[in-house]
Amino acid sequence: MTKTDASPPTAASFVSLGLPEAALTNLTQLGYTSMTPIQAASLPLALAGHDLIAQAKTGSGKTAAFTLPLLARLAPRSFAVQALVLCPTRELAEQVTQEIRRLARAEDNIKALTLCGGVALRGQIASLAHGAHIVVGTPGRILDHLARETLALDAVNTLVLDEADRMLDMGFADDIAKVIARCPKTRQTLLFSATYPDGVAQLAKRFMREPKDVKLTERHDDSQIRQRFYEVEDSQRLHAVGLLLDHFRPVSTLAFCNTKQQCRDLVGVLQAQGLVALELHGDLDQRERDQVLVQFANRSASVLVATDVAARGLDITQLAAVINVDITPDPEVHIHRIGRTGRAGEQGWAFSLASMDEMGRVGRIDEMQGRPNPWHPLSELTPAADTEPLRPPMVTLQILGGRKEKIRPGDLLGALTKDMGIEGARIGKINVNEFSTYVAVERSVADQALRALNSGKVKGKSVKARRL
Ligand code: ADP
Ligand code: MG
Repeated sequence: MTKTDASPPTAASFVSLGLPEAALTNLTQLGYTSMTPIQAASLPLALAGHDLIAQAKTGSGKTAAFTLPLLARLAPRSFAVQALVLCPTRELAEQVTQEIRRLARAEDNIKALTLCGGVALRGQIASLAHGAHIVVGTPGRILDHLARETLALDAVNTLVLDEADRMLDMGFADDIAKVIARCPKTRQTLLFSATYPDGVAQLAKRFMREPKDVKLTERHDDSQIRQRFYEVEDSQRLHAVGLLLDHFRPVSTLAFCNTKQQCRDLVGVLQAQGLVALELHGDLDQRERDQVLVQFANRSASVLVATDVAARGLDITQLAAVINVDITPDPEVHIHRIGRTGRAGEQGWAFSLASMDEMGRVGRIDEMQGRPNPWHPLSELTPAADTEPLRPPMVTLQILGGRKEKIRPGDLLGALTKDMGIEGARIGKINVNEFSTYVAVERSVADQALRALNSGKVKGKSVKARRL
């Protein structure tokens, strides 16, 4: 959690919730010393059994806001599925499962299972047969299991719709309705969403009982986010992004466009300038999406270009800059975008490019922030003359073989440092996925590491590696 969200004088303690002692100790061990604002607003209501519609930005601690209530109602001795959490993507479902497991540590033997597409059914069926208290998954795959009768939801007492707006954006409305039809009528339903479009309101109306609304309008600690607006002609817009990057040289930048076409065009322009820019869009398959996210998070790509929908739910810390390539028509979305930077006590930049046509939108943002935005001339953006183009500090190497081959991060780190003589300090993040392992290494040792991997061994086996 960012320090900016839970300022000490108003931060509420978890103690007031009447949770069991072991749960409180566990929260302390996790470093959760006080509730985040969305937790403080929703936990008392949810623990009292109310249905809830909760709206708050990414990274505000929504997972714990629904997990603590569902854990409170759980009977560990019963091996029926008692809580179901629906999520839009596998990535988000896996993050949620991990957070649930951390929060459930206080109790012995609570089992949480992820059920998503892109993973073989057989393993999931075997895990279900062993019993699970909590299931987290995407609507499609949950329906698959219901159709095969490998999953029953008759004992569900808490249903969570996480990132409800995004699930609707992805066309899951019918699937969600079908899954809900298989849950008991008496249950608690908790709905979490970053925005509140009509579709979400309809969903709530259909499936919830007198829900309480908890909505947190966002306020950032302004000292952490430095905003600058630049007036551009439409014809200058994409080029101006390159100027910003060259001038400010942020290590990682998330660039928001209003349309997919604009994303595509921008990536083309940036790549042509020699920048390492990647696009995140809905047409990527799961493996491609994983690769894009891994490369951006491990600092081997400078820029990630995305629409609001594609970037929803991404939890990336250490974002040096956000660029609004287009101004969004919704001022709340603007606040949401720029809140991705300036986290965890670090300063961040938020740059916005606006044409004359977009001045009305900027006006609404000013209004919402309660003050005008600072304007700067494009001419202040002078590329540092004698430096080379902006390059990411790391390079990603992909090794064929992952969880399936029982590779663990420590195995790879050991091989690289002990057997292959690469300094530990030059090795970055290691991600082990199902079939692939990704390791970030400093650019200067990338070739050496690649050669060593292809001629050496990991866990006693030869491996194939390539540069992504
Ligand atoms: P959201 O679902 O709102 O995007 P998450 O539930 O993923 O946010 O939480 C974001 C991060 O904040 C996670 O790393 C989580 O472990 C951490 N977090 C949640 N609640 C607290 C808390 N009360 N104190 C400190 N950190 C917290
Ligand atoms: Mg979340």
